[in-house]
Amino acid sequence: MPSPASLTVDLNALAHNFHALEAASGAAVHPVVKADSYGLGATPVARRLMVEGARTFFVARAAEGVALRAALGPAPVIYVLDGCHGDTASAQKAADLRPILNQPVQLQAWRAAGGGACGLQIDTGMSRLGFRPEDAPEPFEGLALVMSHLACADAPADSMNRRQRDDFAAVSARYPGAIRSFSNSGGCFMGADFAFDAVRPGISLYGGGPEGRPDDRIRAVATLSAEVVQVRPVRKGETVGYSAGWTAPRDSTVAIVAAGYADGVLRSYSPRGKVWLAGALRPIVGRVSMDVIAVDVTDAEVADAEVAVGDLCEIYGPNRNIDDQATAAGTIAYELLTSITPRVPRVYVG
Ligand SMILES: *Cc1c(COP(=O)(O)O)cnc(C)c1O
Repeated sequence: MPSPASLTVDLNALAHNFHALEAASGAAVHPVVKADSYGLGATPVARRLMVEGARTFFVARAAEGVALRAALGPAPVIYVLDGCHGDTASAQKAADLRPILNQPVQLQAWRAAGGGACGLQIDTGMSRLGFRPEDAPEPFEGLALVMSHLACADAPADSMNRRQRDDFAAVSARYPGAIRSFSNSGGCFMGADFAFDAVRPGISLYGGGPEGRPDDRIRAVATLSAEVVQVRPVRKGETVGYSAGWTAPRDSTVAIVAAGYADGVLRSYSPRGKVWLAGALRPIVGRVSMDVIAVDVTDAEVADAEVAVGDLCEIYGPNRNIDDQATAAGTIAYELLTSITPRVPRVYVG
């Protein structure tokens, strides 16, 4: 059955962003493909990135790693950011997954499962996962990678970035054989001393700017689009949608588009969201519902750009930047991408 809404993933744009991140950082790019590559589909994304030269990937959960290993075969290195737990360590080892060890109990669990190649996270300021620098373990057999994570990567001028960077440089020097990985997307653009050996971008591979706003070095990868399913007149003074959320200020034409919050169009898109339809950005009017939005296309009619059932509306993509859409909705591109439910087919081009 065809679906009126779909997410098109431009694999050539993904490849472009991979190489842009490589060029900006001067380091090896180890893509972060957690959460199904931020909703775009981890397997097709990782396969294309392998063609572009990626050899090492990061996922968040062990189960994501198991699925990716099954899809990609034995060649790539796969790190699990969550680390390992007593009851999953041996299964991770069997799937040739490398845990990022975040605390002593994980180091013990990994050793108990037989040990082997793994990574180590040092917390330099997130206070999330990882060992405090003063508690970092002595170098040990199997340690292949040491990493830390920036707290303020979307704000390059924040002094915390340099402080974390200097702390990571000091602590990582204690593990001379290990690959040092520090920067996410934002850090890739902070200069050579933030690159270390390998960077871990996620969002900027997928089209989000490193500072949460459009960036001309990064191309749109994800296009969320949906069909117009009805075009209707709404007379001056009539209302549209739940809670009668919009009152037509003039005799209007409204296009009903088959995308709602079950398709990743957050409720917070109203009242400031705009979508690309009939060659221009046009306002969403009234509340987003579960399956549809209403778009004011009165101006299109005035300009003689007819809107008809079956026309495609772009929620975000090349004509409506995902960061701009996220800002309008009071959120970030990460949340937009990871909110698209399985009912929206992913279509791969390039
Ligand atoms: C998610 C994540 C990344 C990728 O971050 P982006 O901001 O999407 O580039 C890198 N490292 C860690 C530890 C993460 O959790």
